[in-house]
Parts: sequence; structure tokens; C-alpha cells
Amino acid sequence: MNKKQKIQDDSKPRRGAIDLYAAQCGKCQKWRSIATKEEYEELRCKFMDDPYTCDRQPNVTCDDPADLECDATRTWVIDKPNLPKTPAGFKRELILRSDYSKLDAHYLTPTGKKVRCQGEVVQFLEKHPEYQHLKLDDFNFTVPKILEDTIPPEVRRKRAEKSASKKDNDFDGKRKN
Ligand SMILES: [Zn+2]
Repeated sequence: MNKKQKIQDDSKPRRGAIDLYAAQCGKCQKWRSIATKEEYEELRCKFMDDPYTCDRQPNVTCDDPADLECDATRTWVIDKPNLPKTPAGFKRELILRSDYSKLDAHYLTPTGKKVRCQGEVVQFLEKHPEYQHLKLDDFNFTVPKILEDTIPPEVRRKRAEKSASKKDNDFDGKRKN
């Protein structure tokens, strides 16, 4: 089988990709922006044992105003804590579906191959003995939860219309019987 691999162009932000990272202070509950995905993943992987606090940022304390509010000015997705840090050379990506129904997680391997589930990780590791030091547990496909209230109103409206028309069809279907 000759499958073509798409190598991602990092220069363009992808539609539905996460473009901003934030952590909530365990003391004052304010949200602080986190500069990079790497820094964010580092925080996330030990979040339970080592909760985030404002004073981790240089020259910031809980008295300073929040960097951002968890409101509908943008769509928020909330990660599970303690997900493993992405192995060196790999990239973990989350893409929000265009209907905002869910996110999909995948890893980009150092060879440019995309792996979307544990089975594909197993296959990749079997084919590439140079990565055998990695374990299946180093990969995690758990996706964040979308905060419904922060989904853009037009998307919510479309969704409501869709489910309403579905109900109409069901009703028609029943009447015909
Ligand atoms: Zn704080």
C-alpha cells in the first residue's frame, strides 16, 4: 500500500487548533496565560501533585489582575490533569471539529507520520526500533472537554436548528406510519 504522508506546515496556524494556553491559580482561581505548549504540557503532566499558582510567573502574585477570563470571548477547552508530556521529537495536537462537537487528538511522529490511536502508536513503535524506549503510556489521546457556554453563538444556533429539523423529520416519519 502506498499511503502518502502529509507533512504539516508549521508556519500556518491550523483551523481548529489550540492557539492559546492558560492555567488557573490554585490559590486565587485567576487564569494566567502560559507562553508555550511545552511549558503548558510540563505544568499539566504534574498538575495534581504540583498545582499551578500565580507566583510561578516572574514578578506576578495573586494580587495582580488575571491575564484572561474564562468567558465566551473565546472557546475554552479544559484538559484533564496529569496527561503525559509529549515525548521528545513528537508533537501532540488537538483539533476542534468545525461543528465544535469535539476535539480530536493525534501525535505527529518525528518521521512526519500522524498517529491517531494507541494501535497506530504500537505499529509505529514496532516499525521504528529507534523509539523503543518509549512506552504506550507516553502517548495519550484523551481530549479536553469543550465548555459549551463558550461555543460561538452562531455555531450553537446552527446546532439548535439542526436538532430542531431532526425532530421535525422524526415527527413526519411517525405520522406517515
Ligand atoms: Zn493566584
